[in-house]
Amino acid sequence: MRIVVAGAAGFIGSHFCDRLIADGHTVVAFDNFLTGSPSNLSALRNEPRFSLIDQDITQPFELHGAVDAVANLASPASPKDYLEHPIETLDAGALGTRRMLELALAKGARFLLTSTSECYGDPLVHPQVETYWGNVNPVGPRSCYDESKRFAEALTMAYHRQHGIRTNIARIFNTYGPRMKLDDGRVVPAFVDQALRSEPMTIFGDGSQTRSFCYVDDLVDGLCRLMLSDERYPVNLGNPHEMTILEFAEHIRSVTGSASPIQFRPLPEDDPKVRRPDISKARALLGWSPCVPLEEGLRRTVEYFRGVRTIGAS
Ligand code: NAD
Ligand code: UDP
Repeated sequence: MRIVVAGAAGFIGSHFCDRLIADGHTVVAFDNFLTGSPSNLSALRNEPRFSLIDQDITQPFELHGAVDAVANLASPASPKDYLEHPIETLDAGALGTRRMLELALAKGARFLLTSTSECYGDPLVHPQVETYWGNVNPVGPRSCYDESKRFAEALTMAYHRQHGIRTNIARIFNTYGPRMKLDDGRVVPAFVDQALRSEPMTIFGDGSQTRSFCYVDDLVDGLCRLMLSDERYPVNLGNPHEMTILEFAEHIRSVTGSASPIQFRPLPEDDPKVRRPDISKARALLGWSPCVPLEEGLRRTVEYFRGVRTIGAS
């Protein structure tokens, strides 16, 4: 297939491109490098089936030739990034998703949207099932991201209903792995960086809030399976292994061998208190469930961050 991937230079996008190329596809990658970097795609630089175009997907563009699938991953995704770029985030979900859907429509291609567990907001149903409509503050600081994704989901369903496009919607839960930005503020790079520097690990609130962490290779496998499925409604993709942030800090200390102390900081506004995907639907429809254990995924991630820090220091 010839597949357009928007947001290809980001953390998940770059791993997704690696996988698509390894599977024999041709990839046309779009990115405006707002939060991603071409260096994430350096392994594909000389690959003839891969091309990278500097393109903001909220702006008009032309693309010649047939396209079989369009995958839209373009959006700031870490709280630090979307709080810094709230309007770009809303535009990416709204105008950007619209342009990618128009591309899919014009080319008769299928369309994959990467949505998020943030659609559930601070959830009152636990674990989160796809039929739960969520508890989102529409005017809080996180609303630029949450509502952008909820709008993108609605737009995707509208294009499916009105134009019959074969669409898929992935609701991705916290994902981690190599190529996350060391300074993007998300808990995995933040704790690993602090642990490797032997600095205090900053826990927001009392650390009793929960998350469930999925290794990026597992997530990408789920995206590939979903992209070929006939399911039009959202499907959760994430790891159901839930833990408190305090417990997670202990895992990082153990994998890095660090003795960093814990430092408590104020909890950001609207920070969800619990999060854990119910993945029954993905298991049944896609035969998918994550298989990389946390310790193994963290080991690979820490190894990557050690390398990045060494290059940065030299
Ligand atoms: P990321 O910030 O690393 O990657 C996003 C990429 O999109 C970046 O390369 C950025 O430059 C690009 N981009 C942003 N706006 C653009 C625009 N207007 N035009 C073209 N490119 C643009 O984030 P990520 O963690 O790789 O997330 C990828 C997708 O997965 C996002 O849509 C995000 O909402 C979703 N997601 C991620 C997670 C996670 O845990 N990482 C969880 C839920 C959902
Ligand atoms: N968090 C933390 N310390 C940090 C960064 C994050 O305690 O230095 C917490 C954050 O408050 C949240 C969880 O870790 O409860 C996950 O945060 P992240 O930004 O990775 O993703 P989120 O799930 O909030 O989108």
